[in-house]
Amino acid sequence: MSRVLVTGGAGFVGAHLVERLLLDGHEVICLDNFETGTRTALLHLREHPFLEIWRHDVRHPLPCQVDLIFHLACPASPAYYQQHPVLTLETCMLGTQHVLQLARDAKARVLLASTSEVYGDPLNHPQQESDWGHVNPIGPRSSYDEGKRAAEALARAYWQAHRVDVRIARLFNCYGPGMRPNDGRVISNLMVQALKGDALTLHGSGTHTRSFCYIKDVVEALVRLMQLDSVDADGLPAWVDPVNLGNPDEISILELAHRILAITGSPSVIQHLPSAVDDPKKRCPDISRAMTLLDWCPTVSLNEGLGWTRDWFRAQTMPQNVPPVYVDQEFKLYQQPTAPAARVAQDSSNPG
Ligand code: NAD
Ligand code: UDP
Repeated sequence: MSRVLVTGGAGFVGAHLVERLLLDGHEVICLDNFETGTRTALLHLREHPFLEIWRHDVRHPLPCQVDLIFHLACPASPAYYQQHPVLTLETCMLGTQHVLQLARDAKARVLLASTSEVYGDPLNHPQQESDWGHVNPIGPRSSYDEGKRAAEALARAYWQAHRVDVRIARLFNCYGPGMRPNDGRVISNLMVQALKGDALTLHGSGTHTRSFCYIKDVVEALVRLMQLDSVDADGLPAWVDPVNLGNPDEISILELAHRILAITGSPSVIQHLPSAVDDPKKRCPDISRAMTLLDWCPTVSLNEGLGWTRDWFRAQTMPQNVPPVYVDQEFKLYQQPTAPAARVAQDSSNPG
């Protein structure tokens, strides 16, 4: 058993990871400031004897003794981080520095959750880890893109200067049960709109592409990357360079909207909005490195994963029988059961 810190553990990816680490028998500290995550994400685990939930902001130093750190804390929805650029940059830079300092002091191993956004609007396709990226440093996405690039640079610097054992996972778009209905990312937006019978909002024509990886596949890859111990032919740790994690099954956003309409049986129409500024036109990971290093590849098809995600969002429209432990904005979702359609509407407008 290891003592594991998960920053951002109340977020979408974090909550799934915390659950997996507990199942694997670890002692887990979930650290989160609930900026975009919710307490309800871990409600089902609140009695677990090996889980501690700490409210803390990674922009401040982290006092604890741990063996492993999964550093996920950061707003990840473009709709959110574009509204909060300073907070996002500070979280990426100060937060990552505090995590790396803690790892140095505690001699802990770290995994940094980076992103495909380091490639920006990519010049090469599919994206390989060797690509340097094509990022607007002052555009609406720059707080996140440049923040994550700075976080990667910090991680590399702490390895070079202090030999901190830090692995960098470049996550491509993930999805699955547990996404917040009001998160703003495309799968949760379109799924909620389809289930409510509202128009599906596409930015521009919908010809731009993404590659979506089911959350369980992502978590498996993160766990394997953290466990990696091998060295390469030059005697360097195999984990020292970043690793793309995602599903190379690329799809246009228009096609995604049609799949969601089909899978939900929704009568909704598609509505084209103005294009989003600096929206990457295509995105698909080259996962050769992950396949070789981690003996991993995605196992869940988009149709299968969208079906499970639909079932989860549908279940959120049902009254939940959960005892009120926390009295906060998120928890009111469970205390006020309403008719299904009204219920999704209520969730979508909830800032929690
Ligand atoms: P999320 O917004 O659901 O979760 C992020 C969590 O971090 C939230 O619980 C939030 O409250 C917490 N947080 C934010 N700022 C914090 C701070 N200053 N101090 C403490 N906690 C803070 O996002 P997610 O989708 O779960 O993403 C998790 C990580 O994975 C992020 O680092 C993100 O950049 C990366 N990532 C995710 C995706 C994806 O598709 N989900 C893709 C690429 C990269
Ligand atoms: N998108 C869209 N409608 C929405 C939300 C997003 O058309 O309601 C598009 C967005 O412009 C982008 C893609 O879907 O091209 C993926 O967006 P998301 O915010 O999920 O993540 P990103 O990959 O841009 O970080």
